[in-house]
Amino acid sequence: MNEMKECPLCKSKEFSPYLETRDYFFSGEEFNLVQCSACRFVFTNPRPEDDHLEHYYKSEEYLSHKNKLNNLKDFLYKFAKTIGIKNKFGLVKTLSVKNTGKILDYGSATGDLLAYFKKKNWQVAGLELNEEARKKSIEKHQIKVYSEKSELLGQQFDIISLWHVLEHISDLEETMKCLYGCLDKDGILIIAVPNINSWDASFYGKYWAALDTPRHLYHFNKHSFKKLAENFGFRLRNIKPLVFDAYFISLLSEKYKRGFYHYPMAFINGFKSNIKARQNMNYSSLIYILKKL
Ligand SMILES: [Zn+2]
Repeated sequence: MNEMKECPLCKSKEFSPYLETRDYFFSGEEFNLVQCSACRFVFTNPRPEDDHLEHYYKSEEYLSHKNKLNNLKDFLYKFAKTIGIKNKFGLVKTLSVKNTGKILDYGSATGDLLAYFKKKNWQVAGLELNEEARKKSIEKHQIKVYSEKSELLGQQFDIISLWHVLEHISDLEETMKCLYGCLDKDGILIIAVPNINSWDASFYGKYWAALDTPRHLYHFNKHSFKKLAENFGFRLRNIKPLVFDAYFISLLSEKYKRGFYHYPMAFINGFKSNIKARQNMNYSSLIYILKKL
């Protein structure tokens, strides 16, 4: 295990225990979250060594790479994904001055989002570490997909998106620098991550599925995300909700807590989370829209 000696956000060396949880999804192993005493950032600590992290992604079930539908949950996931792609395209359209351009999806999985952009005449590129997912996106959609961020060097994009990716990345600093370097001076960076200050996060506690330890290394809220953005030369322009996440995360959390998918309860709690978030913008997951300073 890799014991972090410094806060990834402010480099402070003092943290206190925040929550004890488990990898309910795959290994069943215990993991701890700590909170930085200086900036209040919450992160998984200790975490598996970089070369061992891969092991925790080996589950057949890891949804983003899967296309088969086995049950109602998978069907709902697929349904939400299809709507999600349209919503993401719609969001980019409202943000960009031009109607088309160059987009990089960082952590592009099987490339379904990029395929949609390609159809709408965007120039698209992906970055994906998982070899199988990369192969699929190349075969299925004929998209250029890089396997390492060093290959992006010298390229410029109008839009860079990371949909539930940043919380998985162990070299946060290098990645943020890379994103800065690859973004056009007027470009827009879109980063979606779970929100640990959401109502569903506090309701489900250690069972909250978006903790997803040890795959999720960082557990952002609006405050810590803004700090991260500013540390690397970005300005937070806007925050938008991802309303479907409250339902899906509640459904998984119900499974972790009760041992089965309690659909009615997940629906009620997802709905509750979204209603509460209308007042304080603390949705289950948030989309941060950034520009260069
Ligand atoms: Zn800190």
